[in-house]
Amino acid sequence: MKPEKKRIAIITGSSRGIGAATAIEAAKLGYEVCINFIENESAALKVADRIRNQNGKCITVQADVSKETEVIRLFEEVDKKFGTVTALVNNVGVLAEKNRLSEMTGDRINHILTVNVLSCFLCSREAVRRMGLSFGGNGGSIVNVSSAASRLGAAGEYIDYAASKGAMDTLTIGLSKEVASDGIRVNSVRPGYIFTDIHTNSGDPDRVEKLAKSLPMQRGGDPKEVADAILWLLSEEASYVTGSFIDLAGGR
Ligand code: NAP
Repeated sequence: MKPEKKRIAIITGSSRGIGAATAIEAAKLGYEVCINFIENESAALKVADRIRNQNGKCITVQADVSKETEVIRLFEEVDKKFGTVTALVNNVGVLAEKNRLSEMTGDRINHILTVNVLSCFLCSREAVRRMGLSFGGNGGSIVNVSSAASRLGAAGEYIDYAASKGAMDTLTIGLSKEVASDGIRVNSVRPGYIFTDIHTNSGDPDRVEKLAKSLPMQRGGDPKEVADAILWLLSEEASYVTGSFIDLAGGR
């Protein structure tokens, strides 16, 4: 009998929210999972405990994925502990306080673009260098966690964040074409209002409850609903899907 192909997933920002749900569901499907976090080690360890209690395999790696040296260290750690990554989820994303552009500082805009966009470029680069057939790899799959904000613009709230997600969408389209013949698929999910901690950062922790009724489906989303779409895009069931977007925004 042929040994089952190893599946190794790096999920950036997986100590909380959508990333944590994706890590837990990925481990259930048999992925060896790298749980990445920036500062909340206890949250990362809780996710790891949950995975290990279900007989899953995981490691936790602290790394700020907006910094090139830390991204390289993260991938090298996975090379050492598990082997060559087969799945990457570029999930890290940050928001700042709600504001109009006229009130935004350059530092704020730069921070949002650096964390949300540069991290996605750097992690994708490291994944391509390992997965790409032309680099001696066996192919793989990348999913970028964008946002409905890239379609809607987030006027009066955080157009810097929305624009960072627009950049990720263009990266998804371009990279999917660039690496298709290298055996790598690149896709994206665009969630809407999902129950996670991110809204606290924009100064509006109850955002999802407040706005849910305005949606056609009249409810916010659960992180697991996003995780399930990410895992489908990563899976063999999506083998002919690349450069595609799944909108998970309750009909908005
Ligand atoms: P969240 O609950 O705020 O969790 C953020 C995660 O990212 C945490 O695990 C955090 O680690 C980690 N993180 C932040 N900066 C990092 C960095 N520089 N390096 C490494 N890890 C970092 O976020 P979420 O709501 O699940 O959002 C996940 C993704 O979905 C984001 O890209 C977001 O833009 C997108 N999204 C979310 C919603 C929504 O309504 N929630 C809607 C649309 C799109 P620590 O625990 O160590 O802080």
